[in-house]
Amino acid sequence: MRMPIIGGNWKMNRGSPSSAITMLRVLKRLVKNIHNVEIVIAPPFTALFSVIQYLKKTVIRVGAQNVYFEDSGAFTGEISPKFLKEIGCEYVILGHSERRNIFLESDEVINKKIKKSLSYGLRPIVCIGEHLEDREAGNTERVIEKQLEYTFKDLNKKDMMNIVIAYEPIWAIGTGKTATPEQAEEIHRFIRNYLGEKYDNDLKTGIRIQYGGSINPSNAEALFQKENIDGGLVGGASLEAESLYEIIKSAERS
Ligand code: PEP
Repeated sequence: MRMPIIGGNWKMNRGSPSSAITMLRVLKRLVKNIHNVEIVIAPPFTALFSVIQYLKKTVIRVGAQNVYFEDSGAFTGEISPKFLKEIGCEYVILGHSERRNIFLESDEVINKKIKKSLSYGLRPIVCIGEHLEDREAGNTERVIEKQLEYTFKDLNKKDMMNIVIAYEPIWAIGTGKTATPEQAEEIHRFIRNYLGEKYDNDLKTGIRIQYGGSINPSNAEALFQKENIDGGLVGGASLEAESLYEIIKSAERS
């Protein structure tokens, strides 16, 4: 049985420790009786340390939204996995479409970030997904396969077991347009089969694959009920405790 995982990607919102903790004070209380869902909050860097301190001894885990692939040195503005580990961060979101499209991160760069993060014991949540034009041209599986091949290049089974994949169709992120449960399930199954062929059945059945793209309290449950969907990576709806809690409850029910 794979435990569903709900990630809250706050993006460039709730950046002050006080704003982050105001929300988390409510969430912490609400999720007290949640046992069968892993919850990860990824605040901006400016709130990360305070959030980690605040959530110690709770069931809520903490992730960063980005990292660089070196340990330290002359890389102005960057943060290393070593630093994240030192402050108690456990997860890191990598390959988000905003990083790929706005900051032009390639599969190769993301692959380096994954490897360095894993070497420090950080658990990457790695996003992949197609553009609308890819889907309309019938190229979704080809695009996903290429991302799987290059983003996860030279990773062994043990590495992959420490990774969570987030399938996030780019046309569904922040647009209010969600993939239907059937559309999402089709790609999740495709990803699982690809990994089964490349690695083995253990990885195929064990790796967690989240869906991301305009998840909200009303569409979450139908998505999470699908066999191959193990929770979600949530942007907009993760900014308020009540809506995130509703989504977490949907994952617990399914
Ligand atoms: C995301 O940023 O990963 C995301 C899925 O955003 P939203 O839920 O707002 O579409």
